[in-house]
Parts: sequence; C-alpha cells; structure tokens
Amino acid sequence: MSAPSLRGDGTSEDVWWGPGGLDAVPGADPAAVRPPGRVVVVAPHPDDEVLGAGGTLAVWAAEGSEVAVVAVTDGEGSHPGSPTLTPAQLAMRRAVEREHALAALGLGAPVVHRLGLPDAGVGADDVARGLARLLRAGDTVLVPVAGDGHPDHDATADGGARAAAGAGVTCWRYPVWLWHWARPGAVSFVGARRLFLPAGAVRAKAAAIACFTTQIAPLSPDPRDAVILAEPVLARFRRDAEIVWGPR
Ligand SMILES: [Zn+2]
Repeated sequence: MSAPSLRGDGTSEDVWWGPGGLDAVPGADPAAVRPPGRVVVVAPHPDDEVLGAGGTLAVWAAEGSEVAVVAVTDGEGSHPGSPTLTPAQLAMRRAVEREHALAALGLGAPVVHRLGLPDAGVGADDVARGLARLLRAGDTVLVPVAGDGHPDHDATADGGARAAAGAGVTCWRYPVWLWHWARPGAVSFVGARRLFLPAGAVRAKAAAIACFTTQIAPLSPDPRDAVILAEPVLARFRRDAEIVWGPR
C-alpha cells in the first residue's frame, strides 16, 4: 500500500463531526481513565505528543501523573533544503519549542528521552530497542495509532507497540495524521474512546501548539520554508475531545 497523501487541506473538521463521525465514538472523562503509573508518550517528531494527546496529558498531569516523553527524532527534517535554518538549527529550535509546549500543558519540565533516530528515516526495530531500555513495570505507553499515515509515525507505532508488549505494559494509541487523509467510515473506532477535555485543557493545548512556531508559520517566504501545520490541520486539534484507542 502506498503512503496516503499528507498534502492539501485534508478532511475538514466538519466532515469528522458529520454522519458516521466522531459523535459515535464512546465518550469518557480522561480523569476517570487515568493510568495508575508513569505515562510514557512516544513522539515521532516534536509536537506529535501535543497534537495527538496534549489535552489528555494536561488532565492527567493535573491529577498527579508523572509524564515522560520519548523523542524518536529531533524533527530536523521538517524543512528539507531550507535557506533559513540548517537541520541542526531546526532540531535545536524544535527542542526549545517542545520544552515550552510541555510547560504550557502543565507538565512542568518532564524528562525527555532522545532516541536520536533520523527524521524521515525511522526504523521500527530501532524504536523497539530504544524504548525497551526505558520502560519499567507499571508504565503506560502512548504511541501513534497503527496506520497513522506518515512513515515515521507508522514505524513508531509498530516498534512502540512491540516494546510495550515485550515489557508487559499497557499501550494506548493516539492519531495525528489519520485525521488528514482518512474519512469517517474508513476508520474503525472499535476500542476507541472520545476523551472530553475540560476548557482548561483545551486552552492549555492551544497554548502548547502555539509554541511550535517553526511548524505553524512559514520560516520565510521561500517555498522550502513553507508552513507544516496549516490552518486546516490545526483546526482538527482544537477539538474539545481527543480520540485514543485504549488497551484491548
Ligand atoms: Zn510527526
């Protein structure tokens, strides 16, 4: 199967809430399903953890959860050929953006474990190996949903789920790019929960997303510096709910 297209505006937020859409996913209070132990969120690129599960993490942190982030890549590949920032400069900028974003979620200064895998070249085996070293009994791992649609996300989903199974810990799954290319009716929401975000968590998530300035605005007018998370993409992350697939 060829990779789905992540170009253009993608499926609009209105469509996701239309017939066969997200209203049908069973709802839950995120605080009521908060995992008992440490939460380890595995992000292919800096921002994925915020886009996919930031509101839920904000609720869980406020309730006392310890949250750790696993940075699979440093996100150095978001603007290939940029005349403005080198890949190394981009990686540094994105690390700072993440630090501010996680603080905006109320996570304080959580531990960020870097795997240092190449952006746009993530291997599932490398994720599985890197994550296996970090997991301990009682953890709950959040990884991208299988088939999220970006090659780095799919490799992280695969390797992350294998590491979780190997460590015998619970695995949850969050979508990011699935919202772009998929449509209601083409996604199975079996096992998914629609976690209702309180207003404070919605605001915290918006503030966190606003920290990713290299992604939400062009680096320059040059086409190689174009915006990554354009308005139609961001609209899907302003929902007052996050859909996650929980343990089977
Ligand atoms: Zn990503």
